[in-house]
Amino acid sequence: MREITPAPEPTGDVQGIWSVNTRRTDSGELEVAGVGVRDIAAKFGTPSYVLDEDDMRQRARAWKSAMDDAFANLAGAEVFYAGKAFLSKAVSRWMSEEGLNIDTASEGELRTALAAGVPGNRIGLHGNNKSVTEIELALDEGIAHIVIDSLPEVEQVAALAAARGVCAPVYVRLTTGVHAGGHDFIQTAHEDQKFGLSVNSGAAQDAMKAIASHSSLKLLGLHSHIGSQILSTEGFGEAAKAVLAVRQWAAGQGIDIPEVDLGGGYGVRYTEADAPAPPPAEFAEVLACAVREHVAETGLPAPLISIEPGRSIVAPAMLTLYRVGTIKDVHTDTGPRRYMSVDGGMSDNLRPALYGAQYTAAVASRAPEGEPVRSRVVGKHCESGDIVVHAVGLPTDTVAGDLLAVPVTGAYGRSMGSNYNMISRPGVVAVRDGRAYEILRRETIDDQLALDVG
Ligand SMILES: *Cc1c(COP(=O)(O)O)cnc(C)c1O
Repeated sequence: MREITPAPEPTGDVQGIWSVNTRRTDSGELEVAGVGVRDIAAKFGTPSYVLDEDDMRQRARAWKSAMDDAFANLAGAEVFYAGKAFLSKAVSRWMSEEGLNIDTASEGELRTALAAGVPGNRIGLHGNNKSVTEIELALDEGIAHIVIDSLPEVEQVAALAAARGVCAPVYVRLTTGVHAGGHDFIQTAHEDQKFGLSVNSGAAQDAMKAIASHSSLKLLGLHSHIGSQILSTEGFGEAAKAVLAVRQWAAGQGIDIPEVDLGGGYGVRYTEADAPAPPPAEFAEVLACAVREHVAETGLPAPLISIEPGRSIVAPAMLTLYRVGTIKDVHTDTGPRRYMSVDGGMSDNLRPALYGAQYTAAVASRAPEGEPVRSRVVGKHCESGDIVVHAVGLPTDTVAGDLLAVPVTGAYGRSMGSNYNMISRPGVVAVRDGRAYEILRRETIDDQLALDVG
């Protein structure tokens, strides 16, 4: 029965659930990059996010080299790390050192990348409702591109750029009707969502013409992002074709578009029930194939291609380390279930409560020998939906005080974290070559009280 499946043991495989430098020592303790989780808990407390720096760098490098290889005979490619998945100064530096650029979607993300020393021309800015401050900051920092998301924004960016005497490099975010998630993609003519400009309705084409009419704007590229946690390649190929068809239309109007950004959304394996994600090279090849066809059919010069992976770079690199507290056995219609409470919850990982995301978990401080029992890992918040792991087989001799590790929490965990119940958000501890060091310190109650000026 799936509900009593224990977490797989770490294998050091990039397709595994655990980061590549996670293993169980002979004593049964989990260690990440040579540092035991008991030491991490003793030094930094729980819950803590534990980030395998080398694993994250390897995944970034894998995307960069896959894209460089696939587009070597075209016009080349760039990879923008989608900072919203998880961003800090250290992570910005690492991505930059690995040859990636940074995608941001707010002033906070933009300032974080800048504070890390990433130059503006290696940062992109997204958002369906950018503030004047955000646009001005992007212009002042000479950002690589601002992704235009609406018709009013064309005029707004044009005016702000004109006032500064600069020419703003912009992309237009298209909604092509291709949406993907998991293993499927769908193609619809209707667009009932807040992002982008519809190709089917002609709004995207109107925006492109409007941009071309402003001397303070340079239409640098087209952009598309089709969804998230996508584990198959077809949707990306379909979206690429749809975007490249718009580029062809633009060429017919005398509008030259040198760049195309095909977004992020590449999936990862959260539990063994998920298929392993195709490797970056497979996605890159599908995109390159669409570009080659476009170039052959239209005779246009190849565009510079970029992509924006977030989750697939950071999710598997991080685990959350909790301490087990109250354990409660309950009887349900489907049999007994053990509720295992930990010292965090929806404030450090909202995804299970937000959309039923599935995770797995393993006892990390030692290797208990007991049979797996049907367990649910829950947090300490005042909300019955405060679930960390819906169903996992945890050893029957797991006790309060044990450390529990939940893998693949690097994306949208800390970044969607909250202070619900005035819980302070955990720190992020990076681990590399036997050394553990904080890159984001744990929040304290004093940090929270410092905001309370009443
Ligand atoms: C969220 C987002 C990404 C990153 O998505 P992942 O699923 O983390 O790869 C990239 N681009 C845009 C525009 C996004 O909104």
